[in-house]
Amino acid sequence: MNEYACKKCNRILTKKNCPTCQNVDASRNWKGLVVIFNSEKSEVAKKLKIGSAGMFALRVR
Ligand SMILES: [Zn+2]
Repeated sequence: MNEYACKKCNRILTKKNCPTCQNVDASRNWKGLVVIFNSEKSEVAKKLKIGSAGMFALRVR
């Protein structure tokens, strides 16, 4: 994987820093890509505590 995933919000990133939570320690070791279109109606978004639309990783290490 060339993309990074934020360890805090699970968002998929193209660089190591997350603009959402100011985390600069995003990981390349992640699994399972999830695309959230509507976080309020998505069960996956609720489970992952995602509050916005976008691409997210299921697991980030
Ligand atoms: Zn983040």
